[in-house]
Amino acid sequence: MKGNVLTISMAETVSKRVLVVEDNELNLKLFCDLLRAHGHDAAPVRDGREAFARAREFNPDLIITDIQLPHVTGLDLIASFRADEKLASVPIMAVTAYAGLGDEERIRAAGASAYVSKPISVMRFMEVVNGLF
Ligand code: MN
Repeated sequence: MKGNVLTISMAETVSKRVLVVEDNELNLKLFCDLLRAHGHDAAPVRDGREAFARAREFNPDLIITDIQLPHVTGLDLIASFRADEKLASVPIMAVTAYAGLGDEERIRAAGASAYVSKPISVMRFMEVVNGLF
């Protein structure tokens, strides 16, 4: 019985490719574990400087990016994805701990499709992810 239920739910899952840019190891693991638990192919990127090249080779269906990164800002990354011919139409979900006044507007203006603030609610995270595929 249990086996049948699993088979049915797996058949309904459409596997997507998700690039996850996050310098915090715990968050990176949490996001990737969640995505994989839902049948998706998650590619972790810890260093924002590698994100653009990784995105171009991974060909993601969705990009999830932290905003506070060392070396590059998530806003600059989003702008670089949006300016790239190959990545311009890929949905981007921004994740940030610093949700100050005007932050969401700036993140959306840079080209993010959705915005989720940390700490992450697991349900909210998957809800937003599923809404972007
Ligand atoms: Mn960070």
